[in-house]
Amino acid sequence: MHILLLENDPLDATLTSVVLEKAYNRAVRIARVSSLEQALTALRREEADVLFVALQPAALRLQAIRRISHERPATPIIVLVGEGEDESAPEAFAAGAVEFLVKSQITINWIRRAINFAIHRKRMLEDLRATSNHIHNIINLSPDAIVSADARQNIALFNVAAEEMFGYAAKDVLGKPLTLLIPEALRAAHVGHVQRFAEGPAISRRMNERGELQCLRSNGEVFPAEIAISRLQTPDGPIFTAIIRDVTERKRVEAQLLDLAMTDPLTGAANRRHLFEVAELEIKRARRYGRPLSVLALDIDNFKPINDACGHAAGDQVLLRLTVACHEVLREYDMIARIGGDEFVALLPETDERRAQALAQRLVDHIAKIRVRFQGKELQTTISIGCSVVADDDTSIAEAIERADQALLQAKRDGRNRVVTYAQRGQTRAGTPPAAAGTGADKG
Ligand code: GH3
Ligand code: MG
Repeated sequence: MHILLLENDPLDATLTSVVLEKAYNRAVRIARVSSLEQALTALRREEADVLFVALQPAALRLQAIRRISHERPATPIIVLVGEGEDESAPEAFAAGAVEFLVKSQITINWIRRAINFAIHRKRMLEDLRATSNHIHNIINLSPDAIVSADARQNIALFNVAAEEMFGYAAKDVLGKPLTLLIPEALRAAHVGHVQRFAEGPAISRRMNERGELQCLRSNGEVFPAEIAISRLQTPDGPIFTAIIRDVTERKRVEAQLLDLAMTDPLTGAANRRHLFEVAELEIKRARRYGRPLSVLALDIDNFKPINDACGHAAGDQVLLRLTVACHEVLREYDMIARIGGDEFVALLPETDERRAQALAQRLVDHIAKIRVRFQGKELQTTISIGCSVVADDDTSIAEAIERADQALLQAKRDGRNRVVTYAQRGQTRAGTPPAAAGTGADKG
């Protein structure tokens, strides 16, 4: 056993040494120092199993305890005081001492136990400190925000990720209401949620169970978050902890993917897949309510020469402008989809053959008037359209598109820049293919 004794009263130092030597039957090495600096030098040279701090006055003693426990955190410190100094114990423990003894009460039988306990207590405290450091690191290295609240729903813990996510420094929000982090309109509901969770049987809910929540940053920005909550019962009441993940970026990517899955990247029109999905619903709706549903097949006239003469980029501009033109003429609930190079399909709910034809003609006329400016040149183009109405026995939109395509082909043959409507069975005209009959206005 190696003991370091920090004592500035030589007589007391001798008395204490005698007791210690007797207690350990001389199987103890006692080094005596009389100042803080000497004690630190001795400890740096050789760690002691235990350090007695018996300096007088109290202020000097306290300063020594603080310094040594800071610099030598593993050294167990036992404080020795004179009679009537009991009240300095709490301060000594707070400064890092693990045992507090009154000199006159030390006995040979008892001091060994006190030293043993002090050594064990120090080890336990060290373990606890290491564990708590570890937990502290886990909390603060977490990429998710970790926020705890007490029974009154005031913030009790706010980790580094929470500081970054919400834009507050922990010191500014500790003790403040948790609702600070929730958009105002949702605050009352949130308090209720937490209250119900507090009273309910569950002690935790995972991210996906709890669903998505809207949170509020210090700059007023509202963001979507996934949240997992848990409840811990403590003597002071329940503590709620939320692990919060900002899903803004994920939502953005999801929306983008959804958009990509539904639209044509060049023109922003719907793609073929999305057209077919929507068409299926529209056919069902049309049948349920006995309403007409029409399709238009559109194709740019002589588009290839534009590409050849002015380049692909010029052609792209024409495709883009055509899409905009469709939106200008079609109604809000109509859908325009690009299904091929210069081929588009429009889906027209609540539209019979006559109205579809009129709408198609307006589109043809509108586009013929448009001039697309590209690198100083003015490009002009026309389109041809084939119309068809979804029939009762159509099993999918593909059949109606097929008929509209046949009518479109006829429009091309008839000279382009026009509308041709597919003739219903029995209405085929001689001189035209059996499937299509021209009804378009010839613009010449
Ligand atoms: P028609 O009047 O018979 O339709 O003649 P056309 O020249 O338009 O012939 P067609 O419809 O067969 O030609 C389609 C052209 O569209 C061929 C190709 O060069 C062009 N194309 C297809 N996709 C794109 C695209 O994404 N961008 C551009 N700029 N051109 C495209
Ligand atoms: Mg074409």
